Amino acid sequence: MRNMAKLKLSLRELLYKKILIKKRLEEKLSDESIRKALNDYHAKKKPRPCGFTVHSVIGCTYRCIYCYIPDIGYSFGNAKAYGLTGEEIVYALLSNPYFLPGRHGSYIAIGSVGEPFLSMGVNKTLEYISAFSKYLGNPIQFSTKTYIDEELARKIASFRNVSLSSLITIISIEKYRLLEPFSPSPDLRFRTIKNLKKYGLHPILFLRPIIPGVNEFEAGEIIRLAKKYGVEGVVIGGFRVSNNIIARLKDKGLKIEEINKRIRGTIRKDRLLDIYVKDIKEKIAIEAKKEGLIPFYSACCASTYTFFKKFGYRIPCIGLDFIEGKFCTKCPVLCENISVEIDIDEAKYFLNRFFGYVKDVEIRGYYIIIHTNNRKKLLNRIRSRNGYRILVETAYRKKLVVTNG
Ligand code: SF4
Ligand code: SF4
Repeated sequence: MRNMAKLKLSLRELLYKKILIKKRLEEKLSDESIRKALNDYHAKKKPRPCGFTVHSVIGCTYRCIYCYIPDIGYSFGNAKAYGLTGEEIVYALLSNPYFLPGRHGSYIAIGSVGEPFLSMGVNKTLEYISAFSKYLGNPIQFSTKTYIDEELARKIASFRNVSLSSLITIISIEKYRLLEPFSPSPDLRFRTIKNLKKYGLHPILFLRPIIPGVNEFEAGEIIRLAKKYGVEGVVIGGFRVSNNIIARLKDKGLKIEEINKRIRGTIRKDRLLDIYVKDIKEKIAIEAKKEGLIPFYSACCASTYTFFKKFGYRIPCIGLDFIEGKFCTKCPVLCENISVEIDIDEAKYFLNRFFGYVKDVEIRGYYIIIHTNNRKKLLNRIRSRNGYRILVETAYRKKLVVTNG
């Protein structure tokens, strides 16, 4: 077993850093820029357990038939670069009460409601990565289907102060024209992998979505090819459907019986439902291992791995799946084998400030045990202030547990 790594983490230090960077930016930005940033969505939205999504491009013209962005209000018809500058987006994130800056802070995922390297958005995406590298240093992830040539790969790799988890989506070779009619070919995406690898990044294959009965049988072949071009791991991701997605799949003549069997819940308009794919994901993970690649069940684990490769030391994943989770594949970071030391008085101070009702705090391995005289009230507080729960768990890489007495 790998030696136990040790790490000291402090929420106070991260919050102090946040104030300092904000002040530095206030000296540079105009009042108008500050107003724009403060009113922006990125300054207000709550984090996901895996960090903050940042939109450098809104909408996507690739129109993949399995894509959910139209179901959540974004366009297939056009795409545009986001309205904030690099410094404004940094200021917006620093104004978000739940965001933590720095290498040990929140993870940033670029994309999710658009393709970050479309021609009209590539400069904006580079501007954002450059600003994150200059001011923040947080781990960053992007996923893409766009062809990244050598010149662009060189630029992306030139940001020295950040780890960049590069997820290259390839889900089908045989059916890609049906599934992704306007995207670059898988062949170009394999070349993207090669180019990113050439400039020192650690590209990861993004096998998402796994569409039961449609593309699962191709996973082995895609993995083998991606390995040849230089990926180090595979993120194996699930599938969510709406009635629109089902209609588009049917319209293309694709079989949906297996999807229907695996839907969780009743399909309705404007509602995204999970498809059960755990068994398929496990089979693909075995296949990836056989090929000598690292399987990941979540994108934030791939980010944690990339951070390790970039900076040469291990820090537990913010998703905390190594604790009780179903998503930990025991990748080389081996989070469960990292001992994180924190200051108990500091933790107690912040827990009282964010939630109240804290009598005492105790550290037990991966957990922060909060002793209270009012468990019900404290649990309700933590639930209603979930953004602060994620902030504390990110800073300390430990799970909160509440107990009476
Ligand atoms: S590339 Fe991504 S965002 Fe664009 S349509 Fe396809 S799945 Fe949606
Ligand atoms: S050890 Fe597990 S939880 Fe940690 S990054 Fe690897 S897969 Fe994720």
